[in-house]
Amino acid sequence: MAKNETAEQIKKAVSAIKALRPAYKDLLAFYEKLFLAQEASKKHIHLQPIKIPEDLLSVKRKEKFPLIARKDFTVDIKASEALLKEICQFACEANEVLYQAGIKLMDALDRGTVDASALLSKTLSEDDIYFDETAKSLEIDKEVLLFMAHGSIRPSLSLCAGQLATYIDKNTLWGKGYCPVCGSPPAISILRGEGERFLFCSFCDHEWHSQRIYCPFCENKDQKTLHYFFSEEEEYRVNVCDKCKRYIKTIDTREIKRPVYPFLEQVATLHLDMLAQNQGLQSGHPLWLQT
Ligand SMILES: [Zn+2]
Ligand SMILES: [Zn+2]
Repeated sequence: MAKNETAEQIKKAVSAIKALRPAYKDLLAFYEKLFLAQEASKKHIHLQPIKIPEDLLSVKRKEKFPLIARKDFTVDIKASEALLKEICQFACEANEVLYQAGIKLMDALDRGTVDASALLSKTLSEDDIYFDETAKSLEIDKEVLLFMAHGSIRPSLSLCAGQLATYIDKNTLWGKGYCPVCGSPPAISILRGEGERFLFCSFCDHEWHSQRIYCPFCENKDQKTLHYFFSEEEEYRVNVCDKCKRYIKTIDTREIKRPVYPFLEQVATLHLDMLAQNQGLQSGHPLWLQT
């Protein structure tokens, strides 16, 4: 029963947001398929646990370094390849930009001009030249290609992060400007309980309990240079750091009764990114699909 919990949460969150913000209907339709396929894919993934030697672990804990680098995640290439094909399919049913990318990538995978396992390995090793060249040869946007490739390995990353999280002391607040597992910036922040703050990694999905008042990118803790503005809907706020001029969106779950799936909230609030960017602020993590 527990294994379907996230899928149910995604479905309920999508239908609630659809009712609240009909303008997001098409985007939500795409992301619902994507997130559900990613959840389903997890069931077929079997990864060897990543072991961190005790001496290395104690250095990382002491220095507050992330547990591993992005390239050191293990990925189930076979499951990711199957998911990549599904994502191409969903893209073909979405907006024009995704449609073009989906159809061209699918064709290249079928013809063998792009090798799926190479594409996925290069995603992990962040081979920028490979992505430049592949996007150019396919005549698609590099960011969209990266988005689709990252989406395909995301279930493996998320499972890996879940296993690695056992190395982290959950009772200590993390005050660094990156994910304690992989060192990437957070994608979204959530307030719950007594107003405790949690951050969600933009790369590996890891969730961590953080300090309430600090910038999760530059680690600024000076209250005078940290503030937030509300959206017209009270459940969201945009936290702004005057020092690094970056922002992160926060959902106050104490204000809402509907189910929340953080990564869906992130994509269903692009109007707030526009508001923030119009003020000259920059997102603290790469934003996918603003089109
Ligand atoms: Zn991470
Ligand atoms: Zn900052």
